[in-house]
Amino acid sequence: MSFQRIVVSDDFSVSTQVEIADIDALADAGVKSLICNRPDGEGSDQPTVRELRDAAEAKGIEVFYLPVVSGKISKSDVADFAAALEKMSAPVHAFCRTGTRSLTLWSLDQREKGVSTEQLLAKASALGYDLQQALGVPAADSKAASADHFDILIVGGGAAGISVASSLMARTQDLSIAIVDPAEVHYYQPGWTMVGGGIFRQEDTVKTMASLIPEGVRWIKAAVGEFEPENNRVLLEDRHPINYDRLIVAPGLKLNWHGVEGLVETLGRNGVTSNYRYDLAPYTWKLVSGLRRGRAVFTQPPMPIKCAGAPQKAMYLSGDHWKRSGVLKDVDIAFYNAGAVLFGVKEYVPALMEYVELYGADLNFGHRLTRIDGESRTAWFERKDEDGNASEVSTAFDMIHVCPPQTAPDFVRQSPLADDAGWVDVDQNTLRHKRYENIWSLGDVMNAPNAKTAAAARMQAPIVANNLLNDLGSARGISHYNGYGSCPLTVERGKIVLAEFGYGGKLLPSFPSWLINGQRPSRMAWFLKEKILPPVYWKAMLRGHEWMVNPERSPADSADV
Ligand code: FAD
Repeated sequence: MSFQRIVVSDDFSVSTQVEIADIDALADAGVKSLICNRPDGEGSDQPTVRELRDAAEAKGIEVFYLPVVSGKISKSDVADFAAALEKMSAPVHAFCRTGTRSLTLWSLDQREKGVSTEQLLAKASALGYDLQQALGVPAADSKAASADHFDILIVGGGAAGISVASSLMARTQDLSIAIVDPAEVHYYQPGWTMVGGGIFRQEDTVKTMASLIPEGVRWIKAAVGEFEPENNRVLLEDRHPINYDRLIVAPGLKLNWHGVEGLVETLGRNGVTSNYRYDLAPYTWKLVSGLRRGRAVFTQPPMPIKCAGAPQKAMYLSGDHWKRSGVLKDVDIAFYNAGAVLFGVKEYVPALMEYVELYGADLNFGHRLTRIDGESRTAWFERKDEDGNASEVSTAFDMIHVCPPQTAPDFVRQSPLADDAGWVDVDQNTLRHKRYENIWSLGDVMNAPNAKTAAAARMQAPIVANNLLNDLGSARGISHYNGYGSCPLTVERGKIVLAEFGYGGKLLPSFPSWLINGQRPSRMAWFLKEKILPPVYWKAMLRGHEWMVNPERSPADSADV
């Protein structure tokens, strides 16, 4: 993960994601200006541009935010980039997730200024980038003619992507399979609630991607920018094509930090935190363990979100800490939820309400966080009454835990694979795309109405693997997804209300009620979350062992397919 500045000219350089720790190296190299070409929230560990700006400005580096969408760089993006280069002091350094978008913008501007395409391609190639597609070189002249081709291509190497690759490899070794993912590391996100509660160590929730890609599966370390389902191919950010016979789409979802005005300006300071980011979960614990009195606010955006219980889990673990340290009476806890209920499956609500009362939390439903000002420690909400009339209310806070609004990633929303809301449009039973027969999807990105959780992905991976292989004629029968998802609600340190349910809120407990009664706080469920589920994730789910998975099967039947 070492930072590498790629020098393009005397005045310009590019790189992959810049971290706070890299600012010193940029300053030492004499960089005067920094351009950020990826949107905030594209990855769950990226510092926001505001955080980078703080660190950069302290070193005298000016920062400009010009996010562009992979594969969709417009003329006005290039003009804005050129104007920024003109205005900013040189040398300028630009970055995005891989550096491709930044180098593409620069190259397109250079071409406007008269540099030939051949020269720009040669330069990019010498720097390790292939910009043929990005610069619009006709397919016949480019690598497209000899593009990579795989029997199965998987977009995204997160909980869903690695699991389904392993499930495929557990069933057959005869197919060429590739995973496309630009990330150096893979996160165990369910652990972040525990990091924010002071229970897990942050470093135990991350491993290198290289260590998790299953043997025999090729890792293409790049980001997909566009889907071309009619041509059975995807285009990488540099527009390099990858062809496939069958595609599995699993790039997760986008955390829309910019969906709350002022949030990126204050996230990570002024008492504003979120367990939804790897680097901020420890800040949650710092705030919680440091608070002796005052007002603590926890927010939940409109559905769908990943791990719908995580916003309130943060509240319960915090309340438990304040109770144990004897300061609960001096801490005023408030939960602001854009939705109308505490939890979507009513059977779990009574147990949760006992903890709401125990911690004296004030519940506010129909309140959507719209604006936040860290300096004055104030948050504003849009409140909707029963008739749908909206008004604005505000509250002060000493600390606030924000769960950001969430959408499908931009490159999915703008693709032919999306439904009207932007999510990948699948049959909720087979997880096969509704319009493209050779495409399946799983994990947070698709539109089946299940709880978006790693537990759901654990169940979905063997189903997708089986159904895809059935389509190839090498598996018998179709597996059916019943919508299983699980949310271990950490109501206190040592006890969990283990919500497990499927489509329509049907309860789907994994254990007999004498062992774990999901509707009651349980020590055994805590033991499961703390000691059992992490190894189940790293050693079973991501390795294709398929523990705690038992999908329904029906015999091979073309009507099912
Ligand atoms: P992710 O795991 O997010 O992976 C997406 C992958 O796609 C990433 O590797 C990313 O780099 C890659 N990608 C993105 N864009 C591109 C692109 N353009 N091209 C190629 N690759 C791309 N789940 C539970 O089961 N239990 C819990 O207790 C729980 N608690 C949670 C608490 C928190 C605070 C959070 C944030 C999540 C929690 N979850 C929990 C949810 C769970 O982590 C997610 O549902 C799960 O990770 C979804 O898997 P995924 O593979 O769809 O997405």
